[in-house]
Amino acid sequence: MSIIEFRKTSKHFGDLKVLDEVDLSIETGEVVVLIGPSGSGKSTLLRCINGLEQITGGDLLVDGISVRAGAKQLRRIRQEAGMVFQQFNLFPQMTALQNVAFGPRKVRGLPRAEAEAQAMRLLEKVGLAARAHHPPSALSGGQQQRVAIARALAIRPKVMLFDEPTSALDPELKQEVLNVMRELAQEGMTMVVVTHEMGFARQVGTRLIFMEHGKISVDGDPVQTIANPPNDRLKDFLQHV
Ligand code: ADP
Ligand code: MG
Repeated sequence: MSIIEFRKTSKHFGDLKVLDEVDLSIETGEVVVLIGPSGSGKSTLLRCINGLEQITGGDLLVDGISVRAGAKQLRRIRQEAGMVFQQFNLFPQMTALQNVAFGPRKVRGLPRAEAEAQAMRLLEKVGLAARAHHPPSALSGGQQQRVAIARALAIRPKVMLFDEPTSALDPELKQEVLNVMRELAQEGMTMVVVTHEMGFARQVGTRLIFMEHGKISVDGDPVQTIANPPNDRLKDFLQHV
């Protein structure tokens, strides 16, 4: 069984069709890199996976559970899919540690000491144990994004969804975030990553998907697809990223 399965999935915003009968199966352990022009539906595709947007046609299964199944199942799906956004969205009044411990305390009712011990291990994993007691405002953008990754991992997701996680970062800070993502991939985490970082796509991606107008127009091996784009639009797109 695929961990994520789009079945003729559509998403409309009013009259605007943003996802157009998408068929896509993602297997455990895949690192899918999603690219495409602005407005092609990449963020919406990710947001449908964890129920931040409701689909309007077809079906979408996450670990066998339909996003249409109801509130209780949707909560389960949200725990299985961790999300990292372009804007880090950390709680400004909490320390890094409290940010990471928050989900497990709130969602899984973990006692504070246990949640914070686990949070500390995750901050170590992303190289930020020394910054654990600082608020987001005392951290660089790259550090904040690594805290956001640790926070998403704290709910023990089966899939990690990344929506342009390095787009808001200065070039020198991008790499520290990409390195954490690379390590996650090497540990076998299933990932769907919207990014313009073609080096990451080639080195870490197991699959590259090019979206246009709410449809998948190319789906292939990253190295081969980037070396030999199968259509002119992708070729043109790659020349501009
Ligand atoms: P991408 O991430 O590829 O840039 P998006 O998924 O964000 O594309 O958006 C796809 C299209 O859907 C765009 O035309 C965008 O304006 C529209 N859209 C996205 N979110 C909403 C919303 N909440 N309400 C109305 N239109 C939206
Ligand atoms: Mg987007």
